[in-house]
Amino acid sequence: MNSPRPRLQPALFAMLLLYSSILVRGGAATAQAHEAFLPAAAAARSWADKPAMQEPVSPPVFEFHSGFWTNLHHFLYKLARDRKDSSKATDPFAGAKLAVVEQREWNVAVDYYAVNYADLDPAINVDLINLKNELGDAENCAEISGRSGPRCAMALPKEVAQILESAAPVYRAHWWSEHDRANRQWTEQVAPLVRQWGKDLAEELARVYQAKWPAGKVRVDVTAYADWAGAYTTLDPLRVTIASLDPRNQGQAALELLFHEASHGLAEPIQTAIVRECRIRGKPIPRDLWHAVVFYTTGEVVKDVLNEGGETGSGAYTPYAMREGLYTHRWSNYLRVIQKYWQPYLDGSADFGDAIARMVSSL
Ligand SMILES: [Zn+2]
Repeated sequence: MNSPRPRLQPALFAMLLLYSSILVRGGAATAQAHEAFLPAAAAARSWADKPAMQEPVSPPVFEFHSGFWTNLHHFLYKLARDRKDSSKATDPFAGAKLAVVEQREWNVAVDYYAVNYADLDPAINVDLINLKNELGDAENCAEISGRSGPRCAMALPKEVAQILESAAPVYRAHWWSEHDRANRQWTEQVAPLVRQWGKDLAEELARVYQAKWPAGKVRVDVTAYADWAGAYTTLDPLRVTIASLDPRNQGQAALELLFHEASHGLAEPIQTAIVRECRIRGKPIPRDLWHAVVFYTTGEVVKDVLNEGGETGSGAYTPYAMREGLYTHRWSNYLRVIQKYWQPYLDGSADFGDAIARMVSSL
């Protein structure tokens, strides 16, 4: 039976904020939740000198988790999707030598995910969001049906709980320790960047999005695999999932990804303004325009902070969306209006509402 996941007491949390520490819990057989609390450095930087349009921002605190069940869930989702994509044709037993009985249990789980979940988007499908949140809360419980105590009694459809519990010993024996190690390494890689630049980024992002930085800690589930994009965010509650093994999410890009995902929690004023301008003009709402604006905005803010801070050496940081070629097809048109009408707002020479209105009217 697992011990309840230890929680930080308020006094301890304040101390962690004060010392800008990272707390990594793990190693104990009964409680392997991996939590790193990453308050940003308190030093004032150039961003802090800009006139604040919003209330002062508390240092951003990300709470990182490397949980067994949510990692199992996302691994099964990835294998199920790969099975449907003949171009990938991933061997579901890749790198692992499974006994016959293990193969059978594992196949049942991958089959179930292929039939029920592989075609769904985990960022927007309510069933998958609920499943992901429940499995995240299960952390490293030995089981998820409540046999070991109420903390591990997750609100899951019975069939799903049984499938996952049957697959769990196979995952634990063959993949989990490697995935958990990758999650911890990813977190330790991004931690110094968050401590160094997090406060500046949070202040500037809250200012440009004209929104408050999320109150409290931003929960980040670090998983070996996530969705097709390698990271996604769900709201109410705000929770970020980031894939530690995704090559797109490494180095300084990890910092941008983290703040891009957190920016999903700040993007409502942009979404609202786009909808309002479309209604005024009787135009259809450009699909994902808000998301392109968020990719561009957070990418530029991270780029400026890293470049001004000398973090990138002689080179310049290239934002994720530019580097990964996201601005193609419909998004190439979005990039055109963003650079023409939104960039002046970021530069301080245009008004937020005017910039949105001009983008919408030009599409
Ligand atoms: Zn996004």
